[in-house]
Amino acid sequence: MHSPFPSFTLDLPAWAAHELTQLPSHIQAVEDRMRAVLNFARLNTEHQSGGPFAAGVFERDSGKLIIIGVNRVLPLNCSSAHAEITALTLAQQMLGTYDLGGPEMPAHQLVVNWSPCAMCFGAVLWSGIRSLVIAGADQEMMDITGFDEGPLPENWREELRKRGISFEEGVLREEALDGFRAFTATNPEVYNGRQGD
Ligand SMILES: [Zn+2]
Repeated sequence: MHSPFPSFTLDLPAWAAHELTQLPSHIQAVEDRMRAVLNFARLNTEHQSGGPFAAGVFERDSGKLIIIGVNRVLPLNCSSAHAEITALTLAQQMLGTYDLGGPEMPAHQLVVNWSPCAMCFGAVLWSGIRSLVIAGADQEMMDITGFDEGPLPENWREELRKRGISFEEGVLREEALDGFRAFTATNPEVYNGRQGD
């Protein structure tokens, strides 16, 4: 018998599926990985297919591109469809495992155009990735866009390292902030959690 309740598909917009076919199979430099992620974030704004965030999963050492995901909160009516969740979930589906750090797997890296929110910080820990690269991590994104990152633990960087996730921040920071300014210039809906009293 069919469940009477909805099922849910976390998918990429059509433009992103096309863009992925245009990228090289491997991207070596971390800056170039971030550049591809920033381009997806910018395109997500332009296509109005979600918030101004993108995240890429790569093999850390070979640079093999697994997937770049984008924020899908508004189009999918899903408050948890952040870019990190989209990218990690699709990567796990593509690789057929919930654990991107499983035995005999290459180390995987997540590259994101800003620091994780409270939810995505947890998702990063559970995903099995071994490396997190972000463009920036302070109040500036929130000041520009109005998005709330929630109560991230103060020692979140240390928590990553304690769990064997190497960490790099400040990669193409100014370019990332330009992307957030471009988003804000479109006078968008900012979908922080609860809007009502
Ligand atoms: Zn998030």
